[in-house]
Amino acid sequence: MPFCPNCGKQNQGNVLFCTYCGKAMPQKSSPAPISQPVIQTNTSPQRVPAPKSRVSNNTKKAVITGILIVGLIIIVLLIYYPGIFPWKW
Ligand SMILES: [Zn+2]
Repeated sequence: MPFCPNCGKQNQGNVLFCTYCGKAMPQKSSPAPISQPVIQTNTSPQRVPAPKSRVSNNTKKAVITGILIVGLIIIVLLIYYPGIFPWKW
């Protein structure tokens, strides 16, 4: 039951406008999703764990990413240029 910020009277349920004075009622749900992504992007780089584990994880990730990229390039080449490699399927 929200109270009108303009006239101070209590309204029934979730109304967009005050039933007494016609002023737009503040909606609780709308501002929260807009502010959440901004907070996440600002805080995520600061939440990085200890330097030791971060370096090893990054090198592992870099190696895995490199292998994946090379594999993707080979797959793309095979799809677009089937005769580029000596072996055949
Ligand atoms: Zn009102």
